[in-house]
Amino acid sequence: MRLGGEAIRRAFLDMRSRYGPQSWWPAETRLEVLVGAVLTQGTRWRNVELAISRLRAADVMSLDGLMALPLDCLAELIRPSGYFNVKARRLANLCKFIQQRNGEAGLEALDTPALRRALLSVNGIGPETADDILLYAFERPVFVVDNYTRRLFRRLGWIVGDEPYDDLRGAVELAVGGDTALFNELHALVVFHGKHVCRPNPRCQGCCLASRCPGRGDGRNSLSSGRT
Ligand code: SF4
Repeated sequence: MRLGGEAIRRAFLDMRSRYGPQSWWPAETRLEVLVGAVLTQGTRWRNVELAISRLRAADVMSLDGLMALPLDCLAELIRPSGYFNVKARRLANLCKFIQQRNGEAGLEALDTPALRRALLSVNGIGPETADDILLYAFERPVFVVDNYTRRLFRRLGWIVGDEPYDDLRGAVELAVGGDTALFNELHALVVFHGKHVCRPNPRCQGCCLASRCPGRGDGRNSLSSGRT
C-alpha cells in the first residue's frame, strides 16, 4: 500500500472542486441514517429512498414504530430496497440492539472502537455498514471502504485492491488524521466519482485525477458508458 496523506488530500480537493459538496448523509434523523445504512446494502440509493418514504408514510420511522411492526409488514414496506426479507430481519436486529444499548444516547456514549465492535456484533452489520453508521450517524472520524474506493485507489496506484478492510481503513485514517468532515465528503466524492467517471470502463478523458493517475486509459473504451 502506498497511501500518502498529501496525495489523498489532493485527490479530495480535485474531486470537491469538480463535483462540489455532496452533503451526505441524505436523512432527516439519525435513525434514518441507521436504517438507510442497512437498506443500501447491495442496492441503489434511489431504491432506499423509496423504501424510506414508505416507512415515513406508514408513520413507523421511529424505534418504537419499527419494533412494533410484524416482520412481514416491515419486509413489505421496505420491498423497493431489494432482499427485503433479509433486510427486514437485519433492521429488526438493529432496532433490538439499539433498544438494548439504551437507545442512541447509549451508543453515543461509547468510544469509536467500542461502538464499532458493538455494531459488528449485530447480525447483518458488516464493516462497511458499521463504518457508514459510525461516520454518518455518530460523526466519528472513520474512513468507509467500499468497492468504488478499491477500484479508484487501485487505479491511482495506491493499493493492490484486495487488502483486508481494516488494513485499508486504518491506513487512510493514519495518513489523513482524525478529520470527520473530510472523511464525510471524501467517501461521498469517491462514490460519485466511481459511479460517473471511474467506472468499470473508466471515462478518463477529462477526469479531474487523470494527470496523476497511472491507471488512466485502462479499459480501452474510456469514453464508453460501461456499467456502474
Ligand atoms: S484517470 Fe481514469 S482510471 Fe484514473 S481516476 Fe480518472 S477515470 Fe479513473
